[in-house]
Amino acid sequence: MKNLFIGVCLAFTVAVAFAAPPKYVFLYIGDGMSTPQRMVAEEFARNANHGELAMNMLPYHATTRTRSLTSLITDSAAAATAIACGSKTYNGALGVDGDNNRVESVAEVAHRNGQKVGIVTTVTICHATPAGFYAHRKNRGLYYQIGLDLIASGFEYFAGGGLDGAFDKKKDPEYRGNVYELAAQVGYKMVWDKPGFTALKPGDGKVWVHCCEGELPYDIDTDFSVYPSLAELTQKGIELLDNPNGFFMMIEGGTLDHSGHSNDAAANLRDVLALDKAVQVGLAFAKAHADETLLIVTGDHETGGMAMGFAGTGYAFHMDRLVHQKCSSDEFARILRKAKKEKPDFSFEDAKPLLTKYFGFVFEAKEGGTDDKAAGEKFAKANAGTKGNPMLLRPNEIEQLKAGFNKGSLHHAARKLISDKSGVGWSSGSHTALPVLTTSTGKYADHFIGMYENTEIANRIKQLYQ
Ligand SMILES: [Zn+2]
Repeated sequence: MKNLFIGVCLAFTVAVAFAAPPKYVFLYIGDGMSTPQRMVAEEFARNANHGELAMNMLPYHATTRTRSLTSLITDSAAAATAIACGSKTYNGALGVDGDNNRVESVAEVAHRNGQKVGIVTTVTICHATPAGFYAHRKNRGLYYQIGLDLIASGFEYFAGGGLDGAFDKKKDPEYRGNVYELAAQVGYKMVWDKPGFTALKPGDGKVWVHCCEGELPYDIDTDFSVYPSLAELTQKGIELLDNPNGFFMMIEGGTLDHSGHSNDAAANLRDVLALDKAVQVGLAFAKAHADETLLIVTGDHETGGMAMGFAGTGYAFHMDRLVHQKCSSDEFARILRKAKKEKPDFSFEDAKPLLTKYFGFVFEAKEGGTDDKAAGEKFAKANAGTKGNPMLLRPNEIEQLKAGFNKGSLHHAARKLISDKSGVGWSSGSHTALPVLTTSTGKYADHFIGMYENTEIANRIKQLYQ
């Protein structure tokens, strides 16, 4: 009888222990990141002998459907509401269901359970994905009101871009004052630059790190002496949020969606790699807190219709060619604008050295080069194989760039050409309906396997807190 009693007590203890929510939750979201984005970045890393992505090596896998209430192709707000709150809603809505009822996010559930909460992103903090975890609005564009919701959340750590200029919108029907000033009044320590960020330490209370007013630059363009990396923002979050009750942190790679919209493969994969570095920070923490940490990596939808393969390159895939791209196509557009301002008669010939510098395009063969078109074509053809310089442009490729220059869109022509030469295909400038890959590790990661709707991520996390 005594043994039975002990057995029952043990079983109860095990059951209670099993029912305990994870002490630490890391939820990583790549905006616009599905399997192609993760695999193109991985192939790029493998090509540079960096091996597989940490996010792709997590032991539990799921395929997550992304449709919203109103469309097979979701927008980021409906996707954020699904992942954060567990409710399908219409495109554009944040933190409310299809009937505009407020729905609680997993971050709010964790906070209600005594955990600290961090929301981290590389885009504006009021952008759809981060806002899905703290805001409840019918329209994702109500940045001022979303800012008010941010303050009302009481979450302990916000880090990313600002409110995109909407912090003091006097004409807003809910105007109550400058949001940044209101945040300081309710106890948020406001941080405005990297030195201030670096100096943050545990005990600083609630913190709002404002890296810039808009979104952060793409990783490929970033000056890390000015801006913190996503990995640094994550590491700081751990330091500030760690406490006996644990924490919930959402970390978003937000700008990779934008490079997906502009079909800029090099910028996109670099942002996936930056997110992966942030995942590695979480994994190091999870390793030191085994059996207490749940870590999930997902995407909100796919952007760009990215494909690993392009009609022009057949069965070949050339990630080594994307190494030559040194800035995003958006940044290249700025460089061109500046060059044109300095030289009003700026010509395609003037643009060639810039195309060589920033995209690695070679216009003339170094050996046997000639101005004769037929001979040049013959040489380019001879060099187009693996033994020659693959960045040596064929006459038709030079014509593509020239046509782009004449239309005022050389930056688009350049990123398209390097994508084509690398074997990366694109089918859209928008989001697509492709399901996303969700990987996870740690406590309760086995709850996140199978093929399910994006709402299940929130609902299964919420169940852990019940
Ligand atoms: Zn999105």
